[in-house]
Amino acid sequence: KRKCATMDMLNKHIGKDPSIIQKMEQIEKFTQEYIIANRNTKYMATVITIPVVVHIIHNGEAIGTGANISDAQVFSQIDVLNEDFRLLNADSLDSSHPFWYATADSEIEFCLAEQDEFGNPTDGIERIDGGQADWDPADIDDILKPATIWDRDLYLNLWTVQYDAANSSLLGYAQFPGEADSTDGVVCRYDAFGYTGNVTPPNDLGRTETHEVGHWLNLRHIWGDNQPNCGDDLVSDTEPADEPNYGNPTFPHDPNNPCGTGADGEMYMNYMDYGDDVELVMFTYEQALRMRAALNGPRASLLSSIGCQTPSGISEKNKEVFISIFPNPVIDKLQIEFSNTNISMADISIINHLGQTVFQKKITQNIKGCSMDVSNLSSGFHLVKISNSQMNITKKIVINK
Ligand code: ZN
Ligand code: CA
Repeated sequence: KRKCATMDMLNKHIGKDPSIIQKMEQIEKFTQEYIIANRNTKYMATVITIPVVVHIIHNGEAIGTGANISDAQVFSQIDVLNEDFRLLNADSLDSSHPFWYATADSEIEFCLAEQDEFGNPTDGIERIDGGQADWDPADIDDILKPATIWDRDLYLNLWTVQYDAANSSLLGYAQFPGEADSTDGVVCRYDAFGYTGNVTPPNDLGRTETHEVGHWLNLRHIWGDNQPNCGDDLVSDTEPADEPNYGNPTFPHDPNNPCGTGADGEMYMNYMDYGDDVELVMFTYEQALRMRAALNGPRASLLSSIGCQTPSGISEKNKEVFISIFPNPVIDKLQIEFSNTNISMADISIINHLGQTVFQKKITQNIKGCSMDVSNLSSGFHLVKISNSQMNITKKIVINK
């Protein structure tokens, strides 16, 4: 059974410092305002890249052995985060699934740090001999994290550890925005981190970290942590749920339950539920907005971090292309704008829910954007693909007549 200690740790932290409650209330007020302000506006494709440092806590094992996991295992976890947060995961819901309407690309990416807090080159992987075989989360927070953390305003800190016997069923825990500086980040059991190396089924697809980074960006559990009383996850496009779902539920799961879940049942495939890794495949649009709110509010300092750049201070690749596609939903004229650059060559295509290409346009001159008449296309979800040698962007739009 999946076990996440994020709420337990939050309650412990509040016990020590009740001012966290007020800070989190302020953040929630900002978050709800952000969601309302951005819910129906044009889709702004501004990809945010978060610099990551992975602290591997081991006990002197050779690299690749036990808790001293290999670089390849670390890379596999970063891959999973980049797939899951960009809706590039191969096991994403099929477009025929009733919950597909809610699946979202959060437009958040992750890179292993290329420079540390002091401007020195790094591979973003720190190997730390902790001098003991396993760890109690209280000691991790009191001793390990404060001693090893990189500036949380500039990096997402991930730790991998072996927990002690009393916490043998614990997979991970994160800190919400608003909690203490010295313990900020995500802790994950070393054998539930990534998809290769020393991972153990059924936690072997890296979804523990996707779930925990969701918390770190202010997402709540899908059941609202008030089981069995139908808690609120502060998001309107997830189905209400009475309690966590474990293992391998089948669709529809728990339909028309007393919480007000619809005929399609609970959204057990959401990353913020507790199913096995293989079941967890989606964030919703409002969850993505909550995470974007965190990155435009309490975690906004990460936007100016240069942790992903080589220490020369010059970005080696300018992969960020800012694209607006609007309005969304669209009735007849779809606008595309490139806000930080001109585009001289690109292919634009629109694909319907059956996977058929229903519109194509070639950009062959240097322009800042273009307009497309989509009034002949049928209503419903479509994908807009924009590609050239530098980029390959896919956005979901709705045509609504
Ligand atoms: Zn959790
Ligand atoms: Ca349930």
